[in-house]
Amino acid sequence: MSGAAYDLVIANARIVYRDRILNGGIAIQDGKIAKLLHQNEAAAAELVIDAEGRYVLPGLIDSHVHFRTPGYEHKENWHSASKAAAAGGVTTVLDMPNTNPYTDTVDRLRQKAALVHGQSYVDYGFHIGVAPGKAGALQALTRGEAASIKLFLTGHRTAKHIIDDEAELDYIFRLAADKSILLTLHAEDDFVLRLFRQSRGEPANLTDYEAAYPRIGAIAAVARALRLVRKYGTSVHVLHVSSAEEADLLDAASAGGYPVTYETTAHQLWFDHASAQPLGTKVKLSPAIREPRDRDRLWQSIVRGTLTAVGSDHAPHSSEEKSFEFHDAPPGLPGVQELLPALLTGLKRHLPELTREERLLAVARLLAAGPAVRFGLDHRKGSIEAGLDADLLIIDDEKKWTLTGDRVLSASGWSAYEGLELEGEALVTIVRGQVVYDRGQFGEEIGQRITLRRELADVFQRTAGSPYRVLA
Ligand SMILES: [Zn+2]
Repeated sequence: MSGAAYDLVIANARIVYRDRILNGGIAIQDGKIAKLLHQNEAAAAELVIDAEGRYVLPGLIDSHVHFRTPGYEHKENWHSASKAAAAGGVTTVLDMPNTNPYTDTVDRLRQKAALVHGQSYVDYGFHIGVAPGKAGALQALTRGEAASIKLFLTGHRTAKHIIDDEAELDYIFRLAADKSILLTLHAEDDFVLRLFRQSRGEPANLTDYEAAYPRIGAIAAVARALRLVRKYGTSVHVLHVSSAEEADLLDAASAGGYPVTYETTAHQLWFDHASAQPLGTKVKLSPAIREPRDRDRLWQSIVRGTLTAVGSDHAPHSSEEKSFEFHDAPPGLPGVQELLPALLTGLKRHLPELTREERLLAVARLLAAGPAVRFGLDHRKGSIEAGLDADLLIIDDEKKWTLTGDRVLSASGWSAYEGLELEGEALVTIVRGQVVYDRGQFGEEIGQRITLRRELADVFQRTAGSPYRVLA
């Protein structure tokens, strides 16, 4: 060995790099990617991991998780949730604010960070929330402390803080624009959904659920948000888009130069209203699972390159809570462990024209580069480049396996994907050069809070090399 040895080398890899695949290795020093190595380039290292010709992806970024700390640790805790993330190839999560207490001030962001410290296998950042009548607390926020300001335009049992007042929405959209902070939206219109509940009552089963929480609620909220974007120029990212019409509206707006982007979830891409019926409360979700045409339209957003990310919306509840009568069961499912195999399996099923390598490039864009750019992490994460954090994932992308209950790592202990055959499995997950997961074995809880960029991404840069361009 020569004197200058790297800390770690991943050899014999097929590296998912920008818009192509490179055969070679990755040399890592001090938690960063030091150099990409040519196929036969020798490099001395303290530790060499032979990827055995498998694909290596950038560590995945889950832009939308509810790890339930603090206040709801009977549903989930950060230790178990981040373990599930690591086993699913996720190296960074962005946690939502609807904890108890609500994470709606800069102080509470810091308190949450202190609670999580030492509990996490993966790196993390936070979205900040807004409680009705308390938007003034956001004046103390600086870009870089929160990945976004999250607004719940409607709510539910574990999301009680609904922002629906017009003057307050004006205030928040203007403040976010002035501070150059991204707004993320749970975009369902509370007034519209209340009209349906008043006339129909709460649904007693999954069959009636979608009709009681219909697409028009989501469409109306997106249209309302776009008017505010027109007024203030606010940068907006719509979460868990569930309907074809929302995707149509958002594509039209972004084509017209509005600084708006969107993501959907793995479960919206997998399930449809009819096929979900046997799962009952497990897929009682907010927003609801819709029709096959909606699911197909969301896959088309991937083909068009207009979908920025796929989030898990990991929102676990205990089995006991999910076994309540339908109208009392809270909405949400665990999903951070299932995110990668669900997307990879779905890409093969719904877009059979893609090659194996195009599927992996799509995963890297939707689960790493896209969210990294949109949420201001791309100076550290989201792609395999010298100088960035060595967050990496060695994957067996063709492994077929069935998710069984004993493999579920979320403390909630269940999955809507149980018994389903999936294709693609994370083998080794590396966070800043340290192995946190290796074929069923876990490393240390080394996760850190990440610092976010201080400036907003330019979402108009849709060049061929842009992370927003999912397929060339
Ligand atoms: Zn959510």
